Amino acid sequence: MRRLRISIIGAGYVGLVTGLCFSELGHEVLCIDNDPKKVDSLREGRSPIFEPGIEDLLSEQIGKGRFRVEEDSREILRTEITFLCVGTPSMKNGDMDLRFLESAAVDVGNVLREKESYHVVVVKSTVVPTTTERIIVPILEKSSGKRAGRDLGVAMNPEFLKEGSALRDFMNPDRVVIGALDEKSGNCVHSLYRDFKCPILEVSLSTAEMIKVASNAFLATKISFINEIGNICKSMGIDVRKVAEGMGYDKRIGSQFLRAGCGFGGSCFPKDVSGLTAEAERRGVDPVLLRSVLKVNEVQPLKIIELLENRIRIEGKRIGVLGLSFKPDTDDIREARSRIIVGELLRKGAIVRAHDPKAIDNFKKEFPNVEYLRSAKECVEGCDAIVIVTEWPEYADPSIYEERLVIDGRGVVKTNNYEGICW
Ligand code: NAD
Repeated sequence: MRRLRISIIGAGYVGLVTGLCFSELGHEVLCIDNDPKKVDSLREGRSPIFEPGIEDLLSEQIGKGRFRVEEDSREILRTEITFLCVGTPSMKNGDMDLRFLESAAVDVGNVLREKESYHVVVVKSTVVPTTTERIIVPILEKSSGKRAGRDLGVAMNPEFLKEGSALRDFMNPDRVVIGALDEKSGNCVHSLYRDFKCPILEVSLSTAEMIKVASNAFLATKISFINEIGNICKSMGIDVRKVAEGMGYDKRIGSQFLRAGCGFGGSCFPKDVSGLTAEAERRGVDPVLLRSVLKVNEVQPLKIIELLENRIRIEGKRIGVLGLSFKPDTDDIREARSRIIVGELLRKGAIVRAHDPKAIDNFKKEFPNVEYLRSAKECVEGCDAIVIVTEWPEYADPSIYEERLVIDGRGVVKTNNYEGICW
């Protein structure tokens, strides 16, 4: 394998994992982030994000001298290929906010103006189809003064990792998708994945972008589908978890993403579905199904409040919220359903006590009026009722709840005084 010099713009969940994994595969990696606090922390071997195994790999790769972190994007001159891994969050109208990506592309292009040899720029951030070709290529050409497809390579290589198992997912993907402007750009990206034992698809830039957002839209659809079935089941006294099990054995359906609960969150599903919906509407296509997927997901966390209100008056009560991260094994609270649930509880006058093994620091910044506890047991003690929002394993112990009312949004436990969201 030829050892490449790789630069990564954005050392967040995707950039850091991509950089560390390529470094582990033997490449020389430079991660660039414009947040000086992140850069300082990474240089000291401390990961600014929680992800299983990431700190060990970080110190190992820094120790081997293959992984460096910088703030100055001029350092990319010493590399051959640059991955853009900055965030593409949602805007209020549902569109993806391309500010960070556009600004990173301008920076990279400006630096590449000085470079004489061939360089490939790869968009790894998730974007709505046609973004790379319509927006990023012209920005790169203008800021670098180079012609894409001649002295500048451009590719789109979406990332399918899941937070919580990101390193394993990156190293063992179900498939690698490489969208390329031309053959030379595609070959360069392909060389990085040559030893991966999975299908490698070479497609156009826009097809690669669509494979990513359509995959997320499909998974989100599965979740909203089972949540809707779950709501119907609840009204009929049927346990949707048994229904999902029965459905999941069908190979055409599969058991994954069929867990009913209080909805999906995270930095990807909500904004990717919203972004695709907004783009479809702009193009005169009515995305009826995608809009419904989002609608189900907006109201699903409120079922928790509804179930609680059926049992107690919320105002003035102490409600314990277990789980703040959008899923277990991460500290990420972006679009987490806990935000909606905690917001609604506070609005209704509850005294909110909360616990999460990893996400308290992030949550505290946005919800300072919540009392945060160090353990689930402490959180539960002194509460009038408990809502379970994230399926962290420690919430599965029924003894911590004693006789308190538990509204379970994820199906993690069964207690005497219990109400499940869809069962
Ligand atoms: P993130 O917010 O964790 O990380 C982005 C990083 O980029 C931040 O550290 C930020 O400081 C840095 N940054 C922003 N602008 C910069 C610039 N101009 N120069 C240098 N650094 C800059 O985001 P993320 O979760 O890693 O997501 C990145 C992209 O990958 C998004 O498009 C997302 O949809 C996609 N994605 C995310 C996941 C996931 O599970 N998080 C999975 C697949 C794809």
